[in-house]
Amino acid sequence: MNPVSSSPLFKQAALVAGEWLARSASGATFQVCDPFDGKTIATLPDLGLEETSRAIDAAARVQPEWAKRTAKERAGVLKRWFDLVIANADDLATILTAEQGKPLGEAKSEIISNAAYLEWFAEEAKRIEGEIIPGAHPSQRILVLKQPIGVCAAITPWNFPNGMITRKVGPALAAGCTVVLKPSELTPLSALALAALAEEAGVPKCAFSVITTTDAKSFGLEVTKNPTVAKITFTGSTPVGRWLMREGADTIKRFSLELGGNAPFIVFDDADLDAASDGALVSKFRNAGQTCVCANRIYVQQGVVEAFTEKLLSRVSTLKLGRGTEAGVTMGPLIDGRAVAKMEAHLADATAKGAKILSGGRRSSLGPTLFEPTVLSGVTQDMIVTREETFAPLAPIIAFRDEADVIAMANASEFGLAAYFYARDMRRIFNVAEALQSGMVGVNNGALANEMAPFGGIKQSGLGREGSHHGIEGYLELKYVALGGL
Ligand code: ADP
Repeated sequence: MNPVSSSPLFKQAALVAGEWLARSASGATFQVCDPFDGKTIATLPDLGLEETSRAIDAAARVQPEWAKRTAKERAGVLKRWFDLVIANADDLATILTAEQGKPLGEAKSEIISNAAYLEWFAEEAKRIEGEIIPGAHPSQRILVLKQPIGVCAAITPWNFPNGMITRKVGPALAAGCTVVLKPSELTPLSALALAALAEEAGVPKCAFSVITTTDAKSFGLEVTKNPTVAKITFTGSTPVGRWLMREGADTIKRFSLELGGNAPFIVFDDADLDAASDGALVSKFRNAGQTCVCANRIYVQQGVVEAFTEKLLSRVSTLKLGRGTEAGVTMGPLIDGRAVAKMEAHLADATAKGAKILSGGRRSSLGPTLFEPTVLSGVTQDMIVTREETFAPLAPIIAFRDEADVIAMANASEFGLAAYFYARDMRRIFNVAEALQSGMVGVNNGALANEMAPFGGIKQSGLGREGSHHGIEGYLELKYVALGGL
């Protein structure tokens, strides 16, 4: 038997308004495929408007009761969910690798590091604190209450099918909100497995629904137009984020948006080049380059370009491409043929304009979605790779002269999610960290996300923060009470 389908967490049904639905009202279904070989892993109901609006209504019905529970009770449920995710991490990782392709070890680390958001927000539930402000008159006091925003719609992508859910649903439930989630149609099985564990942990029926659908646009239209939905929390591409904001304007939706990036990764001439190449390897090639905080453009100061490139190449040569479940594999397939075509287009544009391929540069013989990790030298600012997110294992190296030169190039982007740089000089560290236009800066650090830090972007990379004590604020409204007659 296929080991994925033997897991009790492998669900071929959606969770809608407290019921596991194996069939949609329309009878339509869709298939979930392994990106490594395209083989079908599961068949799911392709849900539509009827199920989405039922889930929203049910979420609205149970929300006041969930919000009325004590913070400690909500925290207890989230803590149990966290414990169950950790206890089932191996099964969850098998499901994740089957539908997304990343190596099993990386899948497990996604699950464990993102379960931490459930644990963190379980604790934060108990720290939703208001304020008492002196009044405008002696007989008045101003009370500031923090209350749950209400029903939230969450839309998540395929690159972190598990992690993108805990960092949205965790704070929402902690705050006393309820959630209707639409995971990517490419990776819905991880969402359903998490929902099964949420149910077991005691998340109330209807407080968390998972809509499986291939009709993302209809879901988007329903959640933006339906006045019962108070907030949309979305991780995905900038064009879809813009569209959701436009559509949600009529009902003044609240938004948390985690959109595209185009992260610069800068190596100064005083950097520890071994640490910088270790960082570049993680930042560029984790998840086969399919993360929104991936190093997209690697800027290296003229005097150290050769030495850094050599070190990076030697680390890239240790990567092992293959099926995520095979021992020793460190890089899996790209998600689909479109992702491969985008990588090839960026590569062709760069080489046509004079870039040189130092390693990789072609598809692997192992399968149509596997691309060899690629390093390019001689890259210039007129090439597409410096402007658009490649979302693939392509590391373009661009030489720069000095601080002012590289800051100007790094900031020449409509995006502002993550930036990285390696340096030792303290003056430089402060100046550059302050000058880079991005929501997150890794200094001598190639990995940024953890539950204690406020993850998010500026410019057209998004709105709001996920993680840290700031992460729960997006699920709360302030209410001011003018208490008179005192
Ligand atoms: P990616 O290029 O990473 O797939 P998308 O923004 O297309 O990024 O997808 C991210 C998530 O947004 C997925 O769950 C996808 O189904 C969903 N999505 C795409 N288009 C829409 C839309 N018009 N309305 C709502 N969700 C959408």
